[in-house]
Amino acid sequence: MTLRMGDSIDVAAIPAGLDAYAGYVNGHWATYPAVVAAHPAARHLSISVFADGHADCLDVETGDATDAQAAAWLAAWTPGNTTKPVLYTSASNVASLLAAVGRPRDSLLVWSAHYRGDQHLCHPDTCGYPAADATQWVDHDGQWDESVVTDTFFPARPTPPPPSPPPPPPTQGWCTVNLPVLQQGSTGPSVRSAQTLLGGLAADGIFGPQTHQRTVQYQQQHHLGADGIIGTHTWGQLLGTPQ
Ligand SMILES: [Zn+2]
Repeated sequence: MTLRMGDSIDVAAIPAGLDAYAGYVNGHWATYPAVVAAHPAARHLSISVFADGHADCLDVETGDATDAQAAAWLAAWTPGNTTKPVLYTSASNVASLLAAVGRPRDSLLVWSAHYRGDQHLCHPDTCGYPAADATQWVDHDGQWDESVVTDTFFPARPTPPPPSPPPPPPTQGWCTVNLPVLQQGSTGPSVRSAQTLLGGLAADGIFGPQTHQRTVQYQQQHHLGADGIIGTHTWGQLLGTPQ
């Protein structure tokens, strides 16, 4: 998977909706703060054009940092937005830059500039230049540059937690679920409650023959199974909870 990254000296010229945005922390166009402000949710890449600048990326090209300065900049690099220090240079200069820094290739990231007219990541198999981790491949009418970036360039974002499962549908009222099944022989406060709700009974807390008879009558009146047992449906009727 690859990302689309844009950069420009004119922040407003870079379209919205890209995965990443690059900006300069120094030089004539210190765009980085404006880039972050304009696209707060995207990935950001900070670029220094000077070898003593602190940024994710060092811009190595004529007029900016040189091949010879890159090693010292890498030594001073500290983690920011990217997984490793990034060196930006033209595709034709990648080999000499890597030779000049003398570091293992996998200790840094290469962002090459190769305006070949097609979206590609520089690689010996695609364009013949050394493999890059990102390639700036097109200049959109002089307005903004677009790069293709491998997804190893930026640290993986934490996977957002899955949405909370919805609460179970209220198939049964909580109160009826938690009430005991009562029948002849049951005793206790819940029998007393049932007797009160059934009406016409002494609320003595003892489920005897009279309570049984009243329960059957009640169930018949309410078109419930007339078994004389107060279970979920009868409790629901008694408590006015739809079942
Ligand atoms: Zn290329």
